[in-house]
Amino acid sequence: MLVRFWGVRGSTPTPQAENLRYGGNTSCVEVRSGNQIYIFDCGTGFRNLGKSMEQQANGKALSAHIFLSHFHWDHIQGIPFFAPLYENAKNEFVFHSSSRTRGLQRTLEEQMSDPFFPVNMNEMAAKRLYVDIDEGRTELNGSVVRSMWLNHPQGCLGFRLEAEGQVLVYATDNEPGDALFDQNVRKLAEGADLLIYDAQYLPEEYEARKRGWGHSHWREAINVVTQSGAKELVLFHHDPDHTDECIDSVVTKARDYYPRVRAAAEGMEIRL
Ligand SMILES: [Zn+2]
Ligand SMILES: [Zn+2]
Repeated sequence: MLVRFWGVRGSTPTPQAENLRYGGNTSCVEVRSGNQIYIFDCGTGFRNLGKSMEQQANGKALSAHIFLSHFHWDHIQGIPFFAPLYENAKNEFVFHSSSRTRGLQRTLEEQMSDPFFPVNMNEMAAKRLYVDIDEGRTELNGSVVRSMWLNHPQGCLGFRLEAEGQVLVYATDNEPGDALFDQNVRKLAEGADLLIYDAQYLPEEYEARKRGWGHSHWREAINVVTQSGAKELVLFHHDPDHTDECIDSVVTKARDYYPRVRAAAEGMEIRL
């Protein structure tokens, strides 16, 4: 399994000099296993992923399974700028998510409708499929993606990809402190080879003014990795106001509690 980080920032893109080592694009993670491509979230990092996929495909058809945790802007804003959706009618993309209010297809189409964007989704050439999922299990050519609800305003799904004997967990936008969701995220992460987890705030920021905003912090990320038996932790969804230096200091502190932790950075690759 090969994991590549295309967007690691939370809430809004922050292309500022003091952020660029970790990166300013919002959530997007690519996972390759066998000949399958899995994508977790379509934040602004999704645009560069599209360019890279097109370069590698060199004119051949592309396909991928795209799992959207939820529909806040930082998780969907790259969709209108993902070139492989427009250019090749043989490309095929399967979107998986849960929109409890409108349905998945309508939710995604509406975010590009007049007057929000000049091109709407039915002008995209690629074949698009929409799979409305809920908590549960999706089987895809020998791999399995399990999904569970996390604690976030308007809901958010966490995902566990099991493929070729390896397990990757993508669990972002989750606030600790609710017994049911705390249990969900630990169950999802159980024994995983790699856990990508929301560490938006510093613990002291969370305590002082961010309760109820739907996000976690590095100290809780350490709790989740140690209590679930996951092997390696990647801190993800960095706060827009956290500079590279701030994230460096978080990693240093976190390693006092658990050695196999790093912070997600744009362009980072992890081979499992
Ligand atoms: Zn987010
Ligand atoms: Zn969110």
